[in-house]
Amino acid sequence: MKDNNKEIKNKDKDEGECIFCKISKGEINVDKIYENENFFSFPDANPVAKGHSLIIPKNHFKTALDLPSSLGQELLDCIKNTTMKLMKEDESIDGFNIVSNNFPSAGQAVHHVHFHIIPRKKDDGKILSLHDKK
Ligand code: AMP
Ligand code: ZN
Repeated sequence: MKDNNKEIKNKDKDEGECIFCKISKGEINVDKIYENENFFSFPDANPVAKGHSLIIPKNHFKTALDLPSSLGQELLDCIKNTTMKLMKEDESIDGFNIVSNNFPSAGQAVHHVHFHIIPRKKDDGKILSLHDKK
């Protein structure tokens, strides 16, 4: 598909320096939670909640805008299976946030697109609301 060719060209030339590419290539070891053909998940090194995990594509794409639309189904598969596994392992998790920071102005620190899964519990006191609580 046209979409796929464009994505291959969009691969970042800084890929060799990318920490998530190093993880994807096995140069840095992580405990994988779930994996499919193009994505996998692993624990965030600086968790904001117990079970905080990251989902990344195996290939280097900078932001969600660079991700092939054709990978959407696999991305959702990885999000769902990772989250279900976390919820199974800790039955006190009764909600979760999916967060993706894209571009520096939105807080993206690692420029290999990723999706945070942040497990939530009732009254856990975490504030991830987009709007101020009144
Ligand atoms: P972001 O601000 O959305 O780019 O977040 C990047 C996330 O990657 C942060 O939550 C970091 O804790 C996490 N992170 C960076 N390096 C590693 C690593 N080697 N293993 C696991 N998580 C990492
Ligand atoms: Zn990368």
